[in-house]
Amino acid sequence: MKAITVEPGKPGTARLEDVPEPDSREGSVLVEAIAVGVCGTDVEIVEGKYGWAPPGKTRLVLGHESLGRVVDPGPSGGLKKGDFVVGIVRRPDPVPCPNCAVGEWDMCRNGQYTERGIKEIHGFMSERWRIEPEYVMKVDPSLGILGVLLEPTTVIAKALEQVVAVGQRAFWQPKTVLVTGAGPIGLLAAFGASLSGTEVHVLDRVEAGLKPELVRALGATYHSGSVLDLGFEPDVIVECTGVGSVIADSIQKIGAGGVVCLTGVGGGGVSGYAVADVAAKAVLKNNVLVGSVNANKRHWYKASQALARADRTWLGRLITRREKPENFKQALERGAEDIKVVIQFAEV
Ligand SMILES: [Zn+2]
Repeated sequence: MKAITVEPGKPGTARLEDVPEPDSREGSVLVEAIAVGVCGTDVEIVEGKYGWAPPGKTRLVLGHESLGRVVDPGPSGGLKKGDFVVGIVRRPDPVPCPNCAVGEWDMCRNGQYTERGIKEIHGFMSERWRIEPEYVMKVDPSLGILGVLLEPTTVIAKALEQVVAVGQRAFWQPKTVLVTGAGPIGLLAAFGASLSGTEVHVLDRVEAGLKPELVRALGATYHSGSVLDLGFEPDVIVECTGVGSVIADSIQKIGAGGVVCLTGVGGGGVSGYAVADVAAKAVLKNNVLVGSVNANKRHWYKASQALARADRTWLGRLITRREKPENFKQALERGAEDIKVVIQFAEV
Protein backbone atom coordinates (compact mmCIF):
# COMPACT_ATOMS: atom_id res chain seq x y z
CA MET A 1 0.00 0.00 0.00
CA LYS A 2 1.00 3.65 -0.42
CA ALA A 3 2.12 5.71 2.56
CA ILE A 4 3.69 9.12 3.14
CA THR A 5 6.84 8.51 5.16
CA VAL A 6 9.76 10.54 6.44
CA GLU A 7 13.13 9.92 8.05
CA PRO A 8 12.80 12.01 11.22
CA GLY A 9 15.63 14.42 11.85
CA LYS A 10 16.56 14.60 8.16
CA PRO A 11 14.97 17.39 6.10
CA GLY A 12 13.85 16.59 2.55
CA THR A 13 13.33 12.86 3.14
CA ALA A 14 9.52 12.77 2.92
CA ARG A 15 8.12 10.63 0.10
CA LEU A 16 5.06 8.70 -1.01
CA GLU A 17 6.18 5.08 -1.20
CA ASP A 18 5.03 1.47 -1.11
CA VAL A 19 5.09 -0.01 2.37
CA PRO A 20 3.89 -3.37 3.76
CA GLU A 21 0.29 -3.68 4.95
CA PRO A 22 -0.13 -2.52 8.59
CA ASP A 23 1.29 -4.93 11.17
CA SER A 24 -1.39 -6.84 13.10
CA ARG A 25 0.51 -5.93 16.29
CA GLU A 26 -0.58 -2.31 15.71
CA GLY A 27 -4.16 -3.28 16.58
CA SER A 28 -7.04 -5.61 15.81
CA VAL A 29 -9.11 -2.96 13.98
CA LEU A 30 -8.28 -2.47 10.29
CA VAL A 31 -9.23 0.92 8.86
CA GLU A 32 -9.24 2.35 5.33
CA ALA A 33 -7.93 5.93 5.36
CA ILE A 34 -10.32 8.59 4.08
CA ALA A 35 -8.39 11.75 4.92
CA VAL A 36 -5.59 13.07 7.09
CA GLY A 37 -5.29 16.71 8.16
CA VAL A 38 -1.98 18.53 7.92
CA CYS A 39 -0.72 20.77 10.72
CA GLY A 40 2.38 22.65 11.77
CA THR A 41 3.78 19.58 13.55
CA ASP A 42 3.80 17.66 10.25
CA VAL A 43 5.68 20.51 8.60
CA GLU A 44 8.25 20.50 11.43
CA ILE A 45 8.73 16.74 11.08
CA VAL A 46 9.22 17.02 7.31
CA GLU A 47 11.73 19.84 7.91
CA GLY A 48 13.71 17.48 10.17
CA LYS A 49 13.07 19.51 13.32
CA TYR A 50 10.89 17.03 15.24
CA GLY A 51 9.67 13.42 15.20
CA TRP A 52 10.99 9.95 15.99
CA ALA A 53 10.73 6.70 13.97
CA PRO A 54 9.47 3.54 15.68
CA PRO A 55 12.21 1.62 17.56
CA GLY A 56 14.42 -0.29 15.11
CA LYS A 57 13.06 1.61 12.08
CA THR A 58 14.53 4.54 10.18
CA ARG A 59 11.29 5.89 8.67
CA LEU A 60 8.01 7.05 10.20
CA VAL A 61 4.58 7.07 8.54
CA LEU A 62 3.45 10.68 8.96
CA GLY A 63 0.03 11.99 9.99
CA HIS A 64 -1.95 12.31 13.22
CA GLU A 65 -5.24 14.02 12.23
CA SER A 66 -7.04 10.98 10.90
CA LEU A 67 -10.39 9.94 9.49
CA GLY A 68 -11.09 6.44 8.21
CA ARG A 69 -13.65 3.75 7.61
CA VAL A 70 -13.56 0.41 9.44
CA VAL A 71 -12.73 -2.44 7.05
CA ASP A 72 -12.41 -5.16 9.70
CA PRO A 73 -13.52 -4.48 13.30
CA GLY A 74 -11.78 -7.64 14.54
CA PRO A 75 -13.12 -9.17 17.75
CA SER A 76 -14.23 -5.76 19.05
CA GLY A 77 -17.97 -5.77 19.73
CA GLY A 78 -18.43 -2.01 19.62
CA LEU A 79 -17.39 -1.45 16.02
CA LYS A 80 -18.76 -2.59 12.70
CA LYS A 81 -17.60 -2.52 9.10
CA GLY A 82 -18.17 0.91 7.54
CA ASP A 83 -18.05 2.89 10.81
CA PHE A 84 -16.38 6.31 10.50
CA VAL A 85 -13.54 6.48 12.99
CA VAL A 86 -10.65 8.65 14.11
CA GLY A 87 -7.56 7.32 15.86
CA ILE A 88 -6.45 8.72 19.22
CA VAL A 89 -2.89 9.99 18.84
CA ARG A 90 -1.05 9.60 22.16
CA ARG A 91 -0.32 6.39 24.08
CA PRO A 92 0.58 6.36 27.79
CA ASP A 93 4.19 5.89 28.77
CA PRO A 94 5.10 2.31 29.76
CA VAL A 95 6.39 3.10 33.26
CA PRO A 96 3.68 4.55 33.76
CA CYS A 97 3.83 7.95 35.42
CA PRO A 98 0.97 8.71 37.85
CA ASN A 99 -1.05 10.62 35.24
CA CYS A 100 -0.67 8.00 32.50
CA ALA A 101 -1.58 5.37 35.09
CA VAL A 102 -5.01 6.97 35.48
CA GLY A 103 -5.61 7.61 31.76
CA GLU A 104 -4.40 11.22 31.71
CA TRP A 105 -1.73 10.64 29.07
CA ASP A 106 -2.16 14.24 27.98
CA MET A 107 -0.64 15.22 31.34
CA CYS A 108 2.28 12.73 31.08
CA ARG A 109 4.94 13.57 33.65
CA ASN A 110 8.00 11.76 32.31
CA GLY A 111 7.81 12.50 28.57
CA GLN A 112 8.01 8.79 27.69
CA TYR A 113 4.59 8.79 26.01
CA THR A 114 4.43 7.85 22.33
CA GLU A 115 2.35 9.44 19.56
CA ARG A 116 1.11 8.17 16.23
CA GLY A 117 2.75 9.93 13.32
CA ILE A 118 4.99 11.95 15.64
CA LYS A 119 6.82 9.90 18.24
CA GLU A 120 7.78 6.24 17.73
CA ILE A 121 4.47 4.93 16.30
CA HIS A 122 3.46 5.05 12.65
CA GLY A 123 0.86 7.65 11.79
CA PHE A 124 -2.24 7.60 9.61
CA MET A 125 -1.00 8.78 6.19
CA SER A 126 -1.26 5.32 4.66
CA GLU A 127 -4.02 3.73 2.59
CA ARG A 128 -4.84 1.41 5.48
CA TRP A 129 -3.96 1.53 9.18
CA ARG A 130 -4.55 -0.62 12.24
CA ILE A 131 -5.46 0.49 15.72
CA GLU A 132 -6.31 -0.92 19.14
CA PRO A 133 -10.12 -0.78 19.70
CA GLU A 134 -9.74 1.23 22.91
CA TYR A 135 -8.04 4.05 20.95
CA VAL A 136 -10.75 4.31 18.29
CA MET A 137 -13.24 7.18 18.41
CA LYS A 138 -16.38 6.76 16.33
CA VAL A 139 -17.55 9.94 14.63
CA ASP A 140 -21.01 10.93 13.50
CA PRO A 141 -21.19 9.63 9.91
CA SER A 142 -23.22 12.69 8.86
CA LEU A 143 -20.04 14.73 9.36
CA GLY A 144 -18.49 13.04 6.32
CA ILE A 145 -14.98 14.35 5.69
CA LEU A 146 -15.47 16.94 8.47
CA GLY A 147 -14.66 14.15 10.94
CA VAL A 148 -11.02 14.87 10.10
CA LEU A 149 -11.39 17.99 12.29
CA LEU A 150 -11.88 15.89 15.42
CA GLU A 151 -8.22 15.75 16.47
CA PRO A 152 -7.68 19.54 16.48
CA THR A 153 -11.03 19.91 18.27
CA THR A 154 -9.78 17.65 21.09
CA VAL A 155 -6.93 20.08 21.76
CA ILE A 156 -9.52 22.80 22.31
CA ALA A 157 -11.81 20.56 24.39
CA LYS A 158 -8.90 20.06 26.78
CA ALA A 159 -7.80 23.72 26.78
CA LEU A 160 -11.32 24.96 27.60
CA GLU A 161 -11.65 22.35 30.33
CA GLN A 162 -8.37 23.61 31.82
CA VAL A 163 -9.68 27.20 31.77
CA VAL A 164 -12.83 26.16 33.64
CA ALA A 165 -10.85 24.06 36.14
CA VAL A 166 -8.55 27.00 36.91
CA GLY A 167 -11.37 29.55 36.94
CA GLN A 168 -13.33 27.59 39.51
CA ARG A 169 -10.68 28.20 42.17
CA ALA A 170 -12.84 31.28 42.97
CA PHE A 171 -16.26 32.66 42.07
CA TRP A 172 -16.24 32.41 38.26
CA GLN A 173 -18.67 33.88 35.79
CA PRO A 174 -16.63 34.71 32.67
CA LYS A 175 -18.34 37.14 30.29
CA THR A 176 -15.72 37.59 27.58
CA VAL A 177 -13.34 35.16 25.87
CA LEU A 178 -10.61 36.36 23.53
CA VAL A 179 -9.00 33.92 21.11
CA THR A 180 -5.70 35.08 19.60
CA GLY A 181 -5.02 33.61 16.15
CA ALA A 182 -7.65 32.59 13.61
CA GLY A 183 -5.99 29.44 12.28
CA PRO A 184 -7.75 26.07 12.63
CA ILE A 185 -7.10 25.84 16.39
CA GLY A 186 -8.15 29.45 17.00
CA LEU A 187 -11.34 29.10 14.99
CA LEU A 188 -12.21 25.82 16.72
CA ALA A 189 -11.51 27.54 20.06
CA ALA A 190 -13.94 30.29 19.08
CA PHE A 191 -16.49 27.64 18.11
CA GLY A 192 -15.98 25.79 21.43
CA ALA A 193 -16.19 29.00 23.47
CA SER A 194 -19.34 30.05 21.62
CA LEU A 195 -21.07 26.87 22.84
CA SER A 196 -20.70 28.09 26.43
CA GLY A 197 -22.72 31.22 25.73
CA THR A 198 -19.98 33.72 26.55
CA GLU A 199 -19.16 36.72 24.36
CA VAL A 200 -16.40 35.57 21.99
CA HIS A 201 -13.76 37.77 20.36
CA VAL A 202 -11.09 36.61 17.91
CA LEU A 203 -7.96 38.55 17.00
CA ASP A 204 -5.70 37.86 14.04
CA ARG A 205 -3.32 39.80 11.78
CA VAL A 206 -5.44 39.57 8.63
CA GLU A 207 -7.96 42.33 8.05
CA ALA A 208 -10.29 40.72 5.53
CA GLY A 209 -11.20 37.42 3.92
CA LEU A 210 -12.35 34.05 5.13
CA LYS A 211 -11.10 34.30 8.74
CA PRO A 212 -13.15 37.39 9.70
CA GLU A 213 -16.13 35.91 7.83
CA LEU A 214 -15.93 32.64 9.76
CA VAL A 215 -15.62 34.49 13.08
CA ARG A 216 -18.67 36.65 12.33
CA ALA A 217 -20.62 33.60 11.17
CA LEU A 218 -20.22 32.23 14.72
CA GLY A 219 -21.76 35.40 16.12
CA ALA A 220 -18.33 36.39 17.49
CA THR A 221 -16.47 39.70 17.06
CA TYR A 222 -13.36 39.92 14.90
CA HIS A 223 -10.39 42.19 15.63
CA SER A 224 -7.12 42.82 13.81
CA GLY A 225 -4.22 44.74 15.32
CA SER A 226 -2.86 44.59 18.83
CA VAL A 227 -4.39 42.88 21.87
CA LEU A 228 -3.47 46.02 23.83
CA ASP A 229 -5.81 48.11 21.66
CA LEU A 230 -8.92 46.11 22.57
CA GLY A 231 -11.51 48.19 24.38
CA PHE A 232 -12.07 45.61 27.14
CA GLU A 233 -10.15 43.29 29.46
CA PRO A 234 -11.01 39.65 28.62
CA ASP A 235 -11.90 37.22 31.40
CA VAL A 236 -10.30 34.42 29.38
CA ILE A 237 -7.67 34.50 26.65
CA VAL A 238 -7.02 31.35 24.63
CA GLU A 239 -3.66 32.04 23.00
CA CYS A 240 -3.28 30.12 19.73
CA THR A 241 -0.45 31.97 17.94
CA GLY A 242 2.67 31.06 19.94
CA VAL A 243 4.00 34.53 19.01
CA GLY A 244 6.02 36.20 21.79
CA SER A 245 4.58 39.68 21.43
CA VAL A 246 0.97 38.40 21.34
CA ILE A 247 1.62 36.33 24.48
CA ALA A 248 3.20 39.33 26.22
CA ASP A 249 0.27 41.57 25.27
CA SER A 250 -2.23 38.92 26.42
CA ILE A 251 -0.64 38.75 29.86
CA GLN A 252 -0.85 42.56 30.08
CA LYS A 253 -4.44 42.73 28.90
CA ILE A 254 -6.13 39.88 30.80
CA GLY A 255 -8.74 41.07 33.29
CA ALA A 256 -8.57 40.68 37.06
CA GLY A 257 -9.01 37.03 38.06
CA GLY A 258 -8.65 36.09 34.38
CA VAL A 259 -7.02 33.05 32.86
CA VAL A 260 -4.60 33.02 29.92
CA CYS A 261 -4.48 29.57 28.34
CA LEU A 262 -1.46 29.00 26.09
CA THR A 263 -1.92 26.47 23.28
CA GLY A 264 0.55 27.75 20.66
CA VAL A 265 4.12 26.52 20.46
CA GLY A 266 6.56 29.11 19.19
CA GLY A 267 10.01 30.40 19.98
CA GLY A 268 11.85 33.60 20.78
CA GLY A 269 9.94 36.58 22.02
CA VAL A 270 10.12 40.10 23.26
CA SER A 271 13.56 41.35 24.25
CA GLY A 272 13.87 43.53 27.33
CA TYR A 273 10.71 42.00 28.74
CA ALA A 274 10.64 42.76 32.46
CA VAL A 275 9.56 39.47 34.03
CA ALA A 276 9.04 40.88 37.53
CA ASP A 277 6.75 43.60 36.12
CA VAL A 278 4.66 40.91 34.45
CA ALA A 279 4.66 38.85 37.63
CA ALA A 280 3.57 41.88 39.68
CA LYS A 281 0.57 42.37 37.37
CA ALA A 282 -0.34 38.69 37.65
CA VAL A 283 -0.08 38.86 41.44
CA LEU A 284 -2.19 41.97 41.79
CA LYS A 285 -4.87 40.63 39.42
CA ASN A 286 -4.85 36.97 40.56
CA ASN A 287 -4.10 35.85 37.01
CA VAL A 288 -3.29 32.32 35.95
CA LEU A 289 -1.18 31.43 32.96
CA VAL A 290 -1.89 27.81 32.04
CA GLY A 291 -0.26 25.76 29.29
CA SER A 292 -2.33 23.05 27.62
CA VAL A 293 -1.30 20.33 25.17
CA ASN A 294 -2.81 17.17 23.72
CA ALA A 295 -6.00 15.52 24.99
CA ASN A 296 -7.14 12.41 26.82
CA LYS A 297 -10.12 10.18 26.07
CA ARG A 298 -12.56 12.39 27.96
CA HIS A 299 -11.61 15.32 25.73
CA TRP A 300 -11.90 13.14 22.63
CA TYR A 301 -15.43 12.23 23.69
CA LYS A 302 -16.36 15.86 24.43
CA ALA A 303 -14.90 16.99 21.10
CA SER A 304 -16.84 14.36 19.17
CA GLN A 305 -20.06 15.50 20.87
CA ALA A 306 -19.31 19.15 20.03
CA LEU A 307 -18.47 18.40 16.39
CA ALA A 308 -21.64 16.38 15.94
CA ARG A 309 -23.65 19.46 16.97
CA ALA A 310 -21.68 21.91 14.80
CA ASP A 311 -23.04 23.67 11.76
CA ARG A 312 -21.78 21.58 8.81
CA THR A 313 -21.52 24.54 6.44
CA TRP A 314 -19.37 26.50 8.89
CA LEU A 315 -17.12 23.51 9.63
CA GLY A 316 -16.82 22.75 5.91
CA ARG A 317 -15.37 26.20 5.25
CA LEU A 318 -12.46 25.39 7.59
CA ILE A 319 -11.20 22.82 5.07
CA THR A 320 -9.83 25.12 2.41
CA ARG A 321 -7.96 22.56 0.30
CA ARG A 322 -7.95 18.81 -0.35
CA GLU A 323 -4.86 17.29 -1.94
CA LYS A 324 -4.17 13.80 -3.28
CA PRO A 325 -1.46 11.76 -1.51
CA GLU A 326 0.91 12.21 -4.48
CA ASN A 327 0.64 15.99 -3.96
CA PHE A 328 1.54 15.86 -0.27
CA LYS A 329 4.30 18.44 -0.75
CA GLN A 330 1.74 21.03 -1.87
CA ALA A 331 -0.44 20.02 1.09
CA LEU A 332 2.40 20.88 3.46
CA GLU A 333 2.73 24.41 2.04
CA ARG A 334 0.31 26.82 3.65
CA GLY A 335 -1.26 29.33 1.27
CA ALA A 336 -2.39 32.77 2.40
CA GLU A 337 -6.06 31.75 2.38
CA ASP A 338 -5.53 28.25 3.83
CA ILE A 339 -7.06 27.26 7.12
CA LYS A 340 -7.03 23.44 7.18
CA VAL A 341 -5.54 21.43 4.33
CA VAL A 342 -6.28 17.70 4.17
CA ILE A 343 -4.76 14.86 2.21
CA GLN A 344 -7.58 12.75 0.87
CA PHE A 345 -6.91 9.03 0.45
CA ALA A 346 -10.40 7.81 -0.46
CA GLU A 347 -13.83 9.15 -1.28
CA VAL A 348 -16.23 9.62 1.61
ZN1 LIG B 1 3.25 9.40 31.55
